[in-house]
Amino acid sequence: MFSDYHCHTNLCGHASGEMEDYIAAARLKGLQELGFSDHLPMYWLPESERNPGLAMSEQELPFYVAKVIKLREENNDLSIKLGIEADYIPGNNTALNRLLALYPFDYVLGSVHFVNGWAVDNPANKNEYEHINLDEIYAAYFSCLQSAARSGLFNIMAHPDLIKKFGYRPKSDLTFLYEQTARIIAKANVCIEVNTAGLRYPAREIYPSLELLRLFKKYGVPATVGSDAHLPEQVGEDWEEAALYLKEAGYREVAAFSGRRLTMVKI
Ligand code: ZN
Ligand code: FE
Ligand code: FE
Ligand code: ZN
Repeated sequence: MFSDYHCHTNLCGHASGEMEDYIAAARLKGLQELGFSDHLPMYWLPESERNPGLAMSEQELPFYVAKVIKLREENNDLSIKLGIEADYIPGNNTALNRLLALYPFDYVLGSVHFVNGWAVDNPANKNEYEHINLDEIYAAYFSCLQSAARSGLFNIMAHPDLIKKFGYRPKSDLTFLYEQTARIIAKANVCIEVNTAGLRYPAREIYPSLELLRLFKKYGVPATVGSDAHLPEQVGEDWEEAALYLKEAGYREVAAFSGRRLTMVKI
């Protein structure tokens, strides 16, 4: 199954291209399934404090949903999914749940981009990695990811080790943290995403690492594949590499979603 469950559009303020451009790119590359997963409005902040360069506004959300549904009807050669990428911010589950319940999403990607208010993947914060304690920030990041999985709000944990984006890795052994994370995500019945965007950044590695992916497999956590495209030409990027990586970790199937229900399909 050649699918991409993670792509953005110009609605989020930091990606280029209309939905139609992503569909054309997917068709050109021979994808069978394309899931839109643009950034959900910044529900945890008052509207006046939301950054239009990070996510669509709440007024735009119904148009996003309606457009994906319309394009799904108009493009029968491709299976188009209505997804969304939602930030996990502790203490705001009610607001998130209320917003998600308004629309017929096929799946919700849950992302930890903020740990204690600090944006882990923002290039403006890259240099701070030089000064912070990497063991502490990794522990805090994975603890946040575990809580996100346990919240029951998400179907798929996106880019599960995003914290490595800029190539900063603690010297200590992460096996215990990884194993604990895999067990908790498995118990929460949530999938994880194999996200190829890590290859585009200093991490130079798919999210998650092969070690972590093997543990997800060991505990029976299903996976989806996503490119995190912010440009139409990034749709399906490095998909073959992701498929090999999944197989190396022992996976033979990936998860597909419709109406937030999971089915498994051969890779
Ligand atoms: Zn984005
Ligand atoms: Fe993300
Ligand atoms: Fe994304
Ligand atoms: Zn993302």
